[in-house]
Amino acid sequence: MNPDAKKILNSLRCPICGGQLDLLSYTVPQRTKEYNFFCVKDFRHYGIFLVHWDLAAIVTQEGVTIFEGSHQFDIVQKSGHTKITIRDIDPEERILDNVKPKVFKYEKELFDFSKTNRDKILNRIKTILMFQ
Ligand SMILES: [Zn+2]
Repeated sequence: MNPDAKKILNSLRCPICGGQLDLLSYTVPQRTKEYNFFCVKDFRHYGIFLVHWDLAAIVTQEGVTIFEGSHQFDIVQKSGHTKITIRDIDPEERILDNVKPKVFKYEKELFDFSKTNRDKILNRIKTILMFQ
C-alpha cells in the first residue's frame, strides 16, 4: 500500500463507534464490491472504497449504516452524490423484505464522516428528510 493511502487510512475512524478501519476480510458477507475497508468492530457501521494502488490514493466511496428503532438508515456517498436508503427492520435488526425501501438521492455530498458521530448523523438525516 502506498504511503498516502496508509496516511488516509490511519486518519479515518468509524463515525459510529470510533473504531479503526481494516482491509476487507472474507468474513464480511456483503458490500464487498462497494467497499474494501471497513470498521473493525462492525463492518456494517462504516465502509470506504480506498484506491490504494495508484500513486494518488483517494477515497472514492463511503457508506454508513445505522439501526435506529424500527429502521435501518443506509447512507452512501460517492463523487458528489449522496443516497439515503431507509428500510424497515424487525426487533432483531433484520430487514423486512416485504416493505419497500425509501430511497432519497441528492446531487451533492451531504455528510462529512470525519467530523460526526451516530447521533449527529441521525439528526442530519432527519433535517434532510424534513425538506422532502
Ligand atoms: Zn464502527
